[in-house]
Amino acid sequence: MKSSLKFLTLVAVLAIGAGVLGGAQDALSSEKKEKKHEQVAATPSAGEEAVEEETGRGEAAEEEEEEAAGGHGIKWGYEGKTGPSRWAKLSKDFRLCGGGTTQSPIDISALTGTSVEPIEFDYNLTPVEIVHNGHTVQVNYQPGSGITVGGKRYELLQFHFHSPSEHSVAGRQAAMELHFVHQSADGELAVVGILMEAGEENMALRETWAMMPKKAGRPRLEERVLINARDLLPRDKGYYRYMGSLTTPPCSEGVNWYLLTQPISVGIEQVQKFAAAVDPNNRPTQALNNRLVLAPMAGE
Ligand SMILES: [Zn+2]
Repeated sequence: MKSSLKFLTLVAVLAIGAGVLGGAQDALSSEKKEKKHEQVAATPSAGEEAVEEETGRGEAAEEEEEEAAGGHGIKWGYEGKTGPSRWAKLSKDFRLCGGGTTQSPIDISALTGTSVEPIEFDYNLTPVEIVHNGHTVQVNYQPGSGITVGGKRYELLQFHFHSPSEHSVAGRQAAMELHFVHQSADGELAVVGILMEAGEENMALRETWAMMPKKAGRPRLEERVLINARDLLPRDKGYYRYMGSLTTPPCSEGVNWYLLTQPISVGIEQVQKFAAAVDPNNRPTQALNNRLVLAPMAGE
């Protein structure tokens, strides 16, 4: 009797949890639509350029060069006066970086529910464009690859790296983190994050590492090298799921986060090569506030 009551309570809690998440998502996505609308109406701003830089296939490096030449771009980084604790003060377009309540990354510790929908990956072999944009090394993907979750399709725009990892699990960081950035036809963002644990050399990173620029510059189309992002995925595709933000200015919210539970490996020398090209580029973990973090179902 007692245990069946417990079970019913658990079911009720999960059901309420799912309802709350659904509501939160609705609120976020409608807020996001409004924001998109505002952006369309507003004149181009540095904030939009930064969105382009984080999410798009845009010519981020050009902006970087303009910055270097004392141009109009807003300079931000990971330490000192332009570091994460100051991002919100650098531009009013960056205000969510300080005042947002659903920011990323987070520490994954308190789990509040179970995720049920698998991510279907359809990543294809393509030539890619690689760019060191001053903040990370980014691989811009050709159209035609993406993920589908819960019947919604998100196109893969690019993937890039952070060192050390941005997310942590129970307070523990990994050597690096890989972000696959996707966008749906209606403009919603979905990021698949994968922790990269220092260990064995990762053969799937070889091509990317071989063409990695040593410093910021223009995007380079690598026509002779074909890459399939699928090779970078771990075997187990179970994930932690929560609603968050871009981890770089303008820190836009309403981003669907899927942090895979299984890490991939990255060789010590591979970590060193990345660290030689890009200074530490992890934003500190942000307050969870009243968000839900869903864990994969047992056996997934
Ligand atoms: Zn990222």
